Parts: sequence; structure tokens; C-alpha cells
Amino acid sequence: MERNIAHLIAQMTLEEKAGMCSGLDFWHMKGVERLGIPSIMLTDGPHGLRKQRASADHLGLFDSVPATCFPSAAGLASSWDRELVRKVGVALGEECQAEDVAVLLGPGANIKRSPLCGRNFEYFSEDPYLSSRMAASHIQGVQSQGVGTSLKHFAANNQEHRRMTGDSVVDERTLREIYLASFEEAVKEAQPWTVMCSYNKVNGVFASENEYLLTDILKDEWGFEGFVVSDWGAVNERADGLTAGLELEMPASGGAGDRKIVEAVLSGRLPEEKLDRAVERLLRVIFLAVDNKKPNAAYDADAHHALAREVARESMVLLKNEDGILPLRKEGSMAVIGEFAAKPRYQGGGSSHIKPTKLEDIREEIAKSAGSGVQIVYAQGYDLQSDASDDRLIEEAKRAAAVADIAVIFAGLPDRYESEGFDRTHLSIPENQIRLIHAVAEVQPNIALVLSNGAPVEMPWLGSVKAVLEAYLGGQALGGAIADLLFGDVNPSGKLAETFPERLEHNPSQLNFPGEGDRVEYKEGLFVGYRYYDAKRIEPLFPFGFGLSYTTFEYSNLAIDKLGMRDDEQAIVSVDVTNTGVREGKEVVQLYVRDVQSSVIRPSKELKGFAKVGLQPGKRVP
Ligand code: BGC
Repeated sequence: MERNIAHLIAQMTLEEKAGMCSGLDFWHMKGVERLGIPSIMLTDGPHGLRKQRASADHLGLFDSVPATCFPSAAGLASSWDRELVRKVGVALGEECQAEDVAVLLGPGANIKRSPLCGRNFEYFSEDPYLSSRMAASHIQGVQSQGVGTSLKHFAANNQEHRRMTGDSVVDERTLREIYLASFEEAVKEAQPWTVMCSYNKVNGVFASENEYLLTDILKDEWGFEGFVVSDWGAVNERADGLTAGLELEMPASGGAGDRKIVEAVLSGRLPEEKLDRAVERLLRVIFLAVDNKKPNAAYDADAHHALAREVARESMVLLKNEDGILPLRKEGSMAVIGEFAAKPRYQGGGSSHIKPTKLEDIREEIAKSAGSGVQIVYAQGYDLQSDASDDRLIEEAKRAAAVADIAVIFAGLPDRYESEGFDRTHLSIPENQIRLIHAVAEVQPNIALVLSNGAPVEMPWLGSVKAVLEAYLGGQALGGAIADLLFGDVNPSGKLAETFPERLEHNPSQLNFPGEGDRVEYKEGLFVGYRYYDAKRIEPLFPFGFGLSYTTFEYSNLAIDKLGMRDDEQAIVSVDVTNTGVREGKEVVQLYVRDVQSSVIRPSKELKGFAKVGLQPGKRVP
């Protein structure tokens, strides 16, 4: 619908305009009834809708409406499948329409600088190319449904420790090539309706009042057309924020922020035209939501659950498979060990925590996939609430494992180990789980281990197990996805979107994480993730891009259409991929480049393209 936004703004009082620049309550923007400007809802995000039912609180103590819980971003990125991530976005958009939500707060595109960051489960990758493409697909999917997104947390918010006051000190090139690059393509390619600024300072200036970031780069250079919203409570000086390019303060400030804006205009510190331009951006998005609202929208919860299962299968990564112990045979006996099998960890903690429409039971799904030919026993093995070993539980697990043909152990990080709000201090799984693995290995040589965690763990116990399936935080359909992969009904095709270091100390940020006091210097510069491990020739436990399959692939006929090029030119690289095994499978072709004659210091390889292809045995794709 054609609307004259300039005309609307001309009719607004100064107080009404200032009022538009902060929330009505926790989750709504203000409207102006007399002018027909409605109040719209913004809510979390990013991999499931968290719409609270009762009067809102930040910690999510109130009940949310049921919504489909998809695998979190760490898993989504491991699918390396843009189309699939777009489909997740479409489903999220449909759920938002059905629940009358105008803007979904996500995706998060912060770089995984350290595996310790408590919120890594919610971020895509250590690599800006992969991260920005995944974010773009997520945004495109949601917004195709007429629902906005909020690309967050802009910028350099790479730890939870002191996230409200910390100052991320990053040199210009590193900021541009790594931390901002992770947002840049998503903004340029997908135009999120909103961008959420982070809590922290960047080079001495709060992100919420950082003109260089919010105006010079985001709007002027990248052409961002939407509005910037503060992270919840990230505003410092409201008028300075508005001057810098922060259009919306969330949540409501009880009128305090609005008064400061009015005072700044009246005192001449803030030109009224600047406020008008901010309101114009806010109104554009509000009316985008209004014009795209689908009345009586509903969604098919079963279809979304089925999609969640498909996505979970693509998001899990097979890290080890000695003696081809996987896929499991559908005969004989099997011990399923570990409390995670009974109480699955399928989503992260904090603002993204949602109430799923249903939750698959891992043991039931395993039993269904195994069929009646497999005898299955379960042993708890450890207590998720504690790190202390329980000899009784361990002995019971040993007895179950000793008489079975194979043991499948469910291990990983309990909720209390990682969440929004704090960082981890080490990369270990709980001591009682480690003891359990060693104890079971004493009686059973055939162990497959399934990990549930949002970020890398160290695996000093790796030699005790034959297979490891990294299930990440697999969403509400994780049970079926795990069973599908363990029994080979589906062939694993996920690849790591982050490096798993052998030891925490090998991580490049380690000497400067989480910083001193409020100051964290990104001294490793460009050498984040694999860029560092490659340069230092440190063999990680599992490298970026790694993941096994039950089939094999062969590459041939690699060709490039140019021999030399400038940095603003494009080249087409092609390769033939053949499935040389006996099972259908998917392969992720990854393209890395290196500048062979560089005048500046550069990583020895950088991801610049990828494609996922599915192939029947013996088939080839060009
Ligand atoms: C988080 C955001 C979230 C917001 C609203 C903040 O604490 O950092 O990611 O969208 O709360 O819940």
C-alpha cells in the first residue's frame, strides 16, 4: 500500500517522534493511534520463536507459546546448505505470521573467536564467509514470509564475560576482514529489516553509540535500509545513540530515553531532521510488517517438525568411525548409555530458549530404527546434575555394556556448562562422563559416542571410542535424526564450521581471552580459527570443514576460468565430484583461496566458496 511517510512525520509532534525511538514494553514498538501507526512485536529468535504468553520478563521465566525448535546455528552452519537454512527461515517466518510477530530477533552472526564463548551455539562459524552466507539465507527465508529479522549482535561481541561493559579492541583490518565481514554479505545480500547492536564497546565506543559502525559502515557503505535496534538494555546515552545511528531503544525506558531525545532537539544538540530520518526508517519497517501481515495465518506443526528432523540430520557431523563401526547393524544387542539419552540437550540457554511443539525421545527413536531384531538395554551412567561419579551408575553401565554387541554412549555438555550470559573456562566434558567412557571401554571395545554440545570439547578419551557423532544442539527432532544417522538410514554429511582444537591452549585467542578488566584485545588479528592453526601448523583435533561419510567421493577435472585476476573480479572454479562408494551421500565442496604474491600478511588459505551436492553411488556431478 502506498503511504506518504514524510507526510506522516510532518504531522507528528516532537514527543511522538521521540517516542517512536523506544519500545512500548519488553517486546513491542510504540504506535501512534491517531495517525494509524500500529504497534508491532519483535521477539526472539533465532532458531525457534520465543513469544512469551504473560507479561514479559527478560529471563524467560514466563511461559512461551509452543514453537518448532530447530537445531541451533552451530549445527545449521555444519549443514553447509544454504537452501536448507533458507527453508528453516521460511518455517520460522510462517510461525511468526501465525503468532502475529513482526520481527524475529536473529540470526546471530558473531564470529567464534574462542570456543569458550558461552553463546557460540547461537553463532554460525569462525569463518566470515560461511557465517555471512548462512545468515543471509536465514534472513531471506524469514523475510520471504513478510516477517523481519534482526541481524545481531553488531559488532565484535565475541564473549559473554562482561558483555555489557567490555571493550573489544580490534585493529581495522581484522575488524573489516573477519568480524564485520561476517555481517557484511548478509546485509548486502539479504537486507535484514533490522540490525541489533551489541552491548559492548568497540575500540572505546559503545556499539550503541558508534557512528562509525552504525552509520558510516552499516548504512553509508553497505547500504543498509532498515533500522538499528539496541540489544535489550544496551543503550548508554540515548541522544548520543540516536546521533550515531541507533533508531530504536529496546525495551521500554519508561520515557527516560524519549525525554533525552526531546531535550537534545530543543537544546540544538540533535538536529530535528536527524530524528525525522530515524523515524522514517522506523516507519518504513512498521509498514512493511503491516503490508505483509497475513491475516489468519497458521502453520503445519507436523511439517515443521519433519523439517527440523531433516535439518538435524544435515547438521550433525561424523567425526570418527574406526573399523566402519557405524552404521549400526539392525540385529544383535546394544547398550544405550548416558542420561543424555533420556534427557536430551537439544537447545541452548538464554534468550533463544523456547518451548518446543514436541520433543522426540532418543531411546524410542533408536528402538524404532533398530526394529525388533535388536535387543536394547539402557543405563543412566552419570547424573546430569553433578560432575561427581556415581560408582553404582558406572557399574550398572559396565554390566549393560559387557553383555551387548555394542555400546552407544550419550555424552556432552549439560545446560549448566554453557549458556548466554557466561563463558566456559575449559573445554572438558564433566568428569563423571569421562570416567564412564573409560569404564565402559574396559569391558566393551565397540563404543559409538554421540555428543550434545553447543561448541567444541576436548576429547582426551577419543582413543577409548571407535565412533563419534557430533550432534550439536539438534533441536526438537534430534532423536530421530541421531537414529537415522547411527543406523545409516541417512548418510552423515555435516562438516565442521569451526575448528576443534586438541587443547584449549592451542586456540589463537587464548592469551587474550576474556581480556583484562573490561578490555579485550584481539591480538591474534586475522588469525582466527583455521587461519591460525594453518599458519602455525598446529594439527587440530578436527579441522574446520571436516566431517566423515559412509561413502567416499573423488574429485577430478579441477578447472579455473582465469589465471590472473584483480580483487574485484570473479573467477569460476569447477570440479567433477564422483560418489565412489556404495551408498547414496552428500558432499560439501569447499573452495579456499590464497594470495600467492601478497604484499601484506595473509592467512595461507581462506574459504571463498562452497556447494553441497547429493550423489547416488557411482554418479558424478560437474
Ligand atoms: C540478547 C539478545 C536478545 C535480547 C532479547 C539480549 O539479552 O543478547 O540476543 O535478542 O536479549 O531477548
